[in-house]
Amino acid sequence: MGKYDFIDRALEGLREQGLYNTIRTIESSVGAWVIVDGKRVLNMCSNNYLGFANDERLCRAAKDAIDRYGVGPGAVRSIAGTMTLHLELERKIAHFKGAEAALSVQSGLNTNLATIPLLMGAEDVIFTDELNHASIIDGCRLTKAKRVIFPHRDVHGLRALLEENRAVAKKLIITDGVFSMDGDLAPLPEIVEAAEEHGAMVMVDDAHGEGVVGSHGRGIVDHFGLHGRVDVEAGTMSKAFGVVGGYVAGSAKIVEYLRQQARPFLFSSAATPPDVAACIAAIDILEETDEPVRRLWENATFFKTEMRLLGFDTGKSETPITPVMLGEAKTAWAFSKRLFEEEVFATAIAFPTVPRGKARIRVMLSAAHSQKDLGFALEKFAKVGKELGVIGA
Ligand SMILES: *Cc1c(COP(=O)(O)O)cnc(C)c1O
Repeated sequence: MGKYDFIDRALEGLREQGLYNTIRTIESSVGAWVIVDGKRVLNMCSNNYLGFANDERLCRAAKDAIDRYGVGPGAVRSIAGTMTLHLELERKIAHFKGAEAALSVQSGLNTNLATIPLLMGAEDVIFTDELNHASIIDGCRLTKAKRVIFPHRDVHGLRALLEENRAVAKKLIITDGVFSMDGDLAPLPEIVEAAEEHGAMVMVDDAHGEGVVGSHGRGIVDHFGLHGRVDVEAGTMSKAFGVVGGYVAGSAKIVEYLRQQARPFLFSSAATPPDVAACIAAIDILEETDEPVRRLWENATFFKTEMRLLGFDTGKSETPITPVMLGEAKTAWAFSKRLFEEEVFATAIAFPTVPRGKARIRVMLSAAHSQKDLGFALEKFAKVGKELGVIGA
């Protein structure tokens, strides 16, 4: 008996179920084309919606920040790690989101770990959409609050559960803004209405919404015109903004409380100067122009329309997230592998990330893609789709 036998068994189990993930390695910056495992391929699977991950304006801002502030913040924010850059980023996020205040933390995952346990205690109830992101689930696990899972996007079901728990004083409804695997939107106006009737708080995780929906990519609250009616927006700087980091935007009171008590803020060091400066540059660009957001949507609309004409099922997406539904995990893996041989990098996603029988390739469109790139991708999808019998010859 070795002390790591349990790990061997777990890894063996993953291999047997076909769930062992061989992670590909990128050897270039993340643009429309990337070098992966030594091969130049068209990138159709990163969250770099606006092409900011290697944008020269963001790179320049990061380099200037290193010259002025160095590479590290030196401490947690509350002791000696808050720089003028962090405060500038917070002001800019709040303005961009149309919120009273904002707090920057290290990642989107940390945003949920920071916020949910602070708002909810043992006497309270959290209502959470069944398809919410893992970081929301983990944030809920850090509380002693009762968790009530409502059926995906089902406000009727949510209302019934709110009714059942009407005796509970403090309630919080949490939902993803854009669901990352299907690209569908939360019915936020109806959720807010139900929350207002029941005196519940609302928190939305806008990770796949900001930079994508709303005017200039201001996110889902802006998209639905719900400013001031959503208590907390959690977000990330690692997707459309192209960098890394997370933030909470919302009422000044909640942000003040987080600044005093949130554990990822108090016990984990601040985001680095170059990261923060690049995030500021990304917001500055979007304040000034919505051109990258429009380009993203033009690319997404074109690609989805052409894929449907080819006979592919692209699911129920309302955003540039484009699931190409393939059914069995085996088909999805084979499809992805063949695409890679044809110089298209698009990852298969299967159980447990999505339900069994709903395996897919999730195509992520970007403003960085040219018309020529999309034509190339469509040609390869058509070729492999016919080869594997997914679409008619
Ligand atoms: C990606 C994602 C996160 C995590 O963001 P990171 O900044 O990468 O930690 C959190 N919530 C949702 C809904 C996401 O899609």
